[in-house]
Amino acid sequence: MNRDRRITREELKIAVHDAYFGLKDNKDGKNADYIPYLASVDKDLFGIAVCLPDGEMITVGDCSYRFGIESISKVATAILVLKDYGSGTLLDMIGADATGMPFNSVLAILLENEHPSTPLVNAGAISAVSMVCPVGNGRGKWDAIVKNIAELCGSEVTLIDELYRSESVSNHNNRAIAWLLKSYNRIYDEPEMSLDLYTRQCSLGVTATQLSIMAGTIACGGYNPTTGKRVFDEIYAEKVTSLLASVGLYEHTGDWMFSCGIPAKSGVSGGIIGVLPGIFGIAVFAPPIDSSGNSVKGQLALKQIMDNLGLHIFNGKRAVMVEEKAVTL
Ligand code: GLU
Repeated sequence: MNRDRRITREELKIAVHDAYFGLKDNKDGKNADYIPYLASVDKDLFGIAVCLPDGEMITVGDCSYRFGIESISKVATAILVLKDYGSGTLLDMIGADATGMPFNSVLAILLENEHPSTPLVNAGAISAVSMVCPVGNGRGKWDAIVKNIAELCGSEVTLIDELYRSESVSNHNNRAIAWLLKSYNRIYDEPEMSLDLYTRQCSLGVTATQLSIMAGTIACGGYNPTTGKRVFDEIYAEKVTSLLASVGLYEHTGDWMFSCGIPAKSGVSGGIIGVLPGIFGIAVFAPPIDSSGNSVKGQLALKQIMDNLGLHIFNGKRAVMVEEKAVTL
């Protein structure tokens, strides 16, 4: 029996456009407002971008609008820690387990035996930032964080100053997390510096197109399909994708993997990336989020595209992109 799921670029393009036009007028969800800047972003912005392994891009809607990367930066910094220390040390010093709790949970740190759990929640991300090299040198760490995100995205990224200021005056919960980690020896550099770098990395501006290239780079095992450069060693792609699959959509990641089947990571600004290993990277941007912090239209769009193409990472079929008209067996 043929276990291939053959899809053409044309089918993928149609699925992306259908999702965009079908969901464009959906008004569900609400912009995040605990960071004042995010509440002011136009709630009707909507874009979907796909990056294929040969660098071809499919884009529709507002894919050039710069928005705050927020939690999706956690994926990039996890990659940096993997590059600097390897997966064994990441597992030891941070962990790779879902907390089942909100991304900014203090309780999760207490319940998980004083462990930050995973670099994809706030505690683990602040811990990850504290590990970024060169330890003790804030300027050097910041340069490393920005360079890494730019390499993953295939082009420069810069800070949205207004967002950074807005986050800095409202991040009391994250400050509590940073100092709690300090008391458990789970922060590996100066806590206030680590908190500030974390806040800054969340405030970097990116576009849906750039994020789809980051997702495409992970899907291609660390090779950036648009620049032709290797950003990280192939052995880390499975580690990063596992982190996405276990906790990428906050406390609803289990439901997400069950119903949609693509490892993904969302951020409270309304961005979401999806990684289908070897096939494509995808990003959606639509600011209104649900109560857990996941973009409403982003989730619907990804699900519709995956369903339309008969894709699910665990369906036992091998997705194959073909050039000719596909015949699905
Ligand atoms: N900067 C945000 C925070 O720390 C990121 C949250 C997110 O996107 O999940 O609250």
